[in-house]
Amino acid sequence: MSAEEPIPLARPFLGEVEEERVLEVLRSGHLSLGPRLAEFEGAFASRLGVRHASAVSSGTAGLHLALRAVGVSDGAEVITSPFSFVASANVALYERARPVFADIDPVTLNISPDAAAAAVTERTAAILPVHVFGYPADIPALERLGLPIVEDACEALGAVHADGTAVGGGGAHPAVFGFYPNKQLTTGEGGIITTADPTLKERFDSERNQGRAPDMGWLDHDRLGFNYRLSDIACALGLAQLSRLDVMLAGRARVAASYRESLARIEGLELPCVDAGGARRGWFVFVVQLPRGVDRDGTVRALNERGVPSKPYFPAIHLMSLYRERFGHREGEFPVCEDVAARSIALPFFPEMTEGQVARVTAVLDDVVRRA
Ligand SMILES: *Cc1c(COP(=O)(O)O)cnc(C)c1O
Repeated sequence: MSAEEPIPLARPFLGEVEEERVLEVLRSGHLSLGPRLAEFEGAFASRLGVRHASAVSSGTAGLHLALRAVGVSDGAEVITSPFSFVASANVALYERARPVFADIDPVTLNISPDAAAAAVTERTAAILPVHVFGYPADIPALERLGLPIVEDACEALGAVHADGTAVGGGGAHPAVFGFYPNKQLTTGEGGIITTADPTLKERFDSERNQGRAPDMGWLDHDRLGFNYRLSDIACALGLAQLSRLDVMLAGRARVAASYRESLARIEGLELPCVDAGGARRGWFVFVVQLPRGVDRDGTVRALNERGVPSKPYFPAIHLMSLYRERFGHREGEFPVCEDVAARSIALPFFPEMTEGQVARVTAVLDDVVRRA
């Protein structure tokens, strides 16, 4: 047992700016569909250099609206990565479409464009690449397949493509960000969709708000919608966070560099890939792959007993019971994903993490791996 303070797995970066902006909304009495919504959308869009942004109640809600907007419906297939958070596959099910998985690249851990190409059928309605752990997926290669694309950028705020555009900043395809408290920027719960297309922006704004048209009264609705609105309280929090985004991203990058140096001494441990070819990661989590032969679940337990929280991250989606039972998925279908998933754990990671905490995580992990 350690007498030191426990290290959290993740921790949002919050302070007076956030408190003041949220209080201002509370005092105004205008809690939803107020002035902070458009202000947050505008500020987020200009930060990324994209024309439009539509704020929604979660990253998942954003992915759902984006898939609908590119034409995914009953019986369609959506090609996506099995190495992701389960929401990126679930959203296809919301539209009674089928998620079709394609194996990942062993270095970037993003969907392999060749595997995606091999998965295309006449029913493929869209490709949903995930910029996993904030590392940009190879969008140009996927664009060559000529299908609609929805980018899951929920982990990729701050990431930059090889050509210098921000991930989610190009606007050619809807890109979706998530603002859960462990993400680079948080609104408590929330998400946003970016696009260059004003027609899509209008559709997102309508469908998040019960299908209401901007010039229509509350009670006439010409299309199906949802309640996927983001409150003004959340938008105010997002504005405060946005004003400090550079500091928060720099904090994560500093901790990542510190981990990279510190963890280099653990033999056989695989670290997140380094930036290559001009692409830049927007740091979200620090996920390592344990040396082969080391028991992943046992390691998570041993770390936890010694005050270092961690979690298996990600488990392969196709091997989750919902997906096994519904689609008959089995081990062996996506060998790269399965190998990586079986060895991956997320370590404590947040902007204010200290060198001392990084050193402690390293020392404990080193010891646990040696004993394994
Ligand atoms: C966080 C996340 C989402 C969306 O999360 P919400 O909790 O719905 O905001 C979607 N995909 C990935 C890959 C994520 O990490």
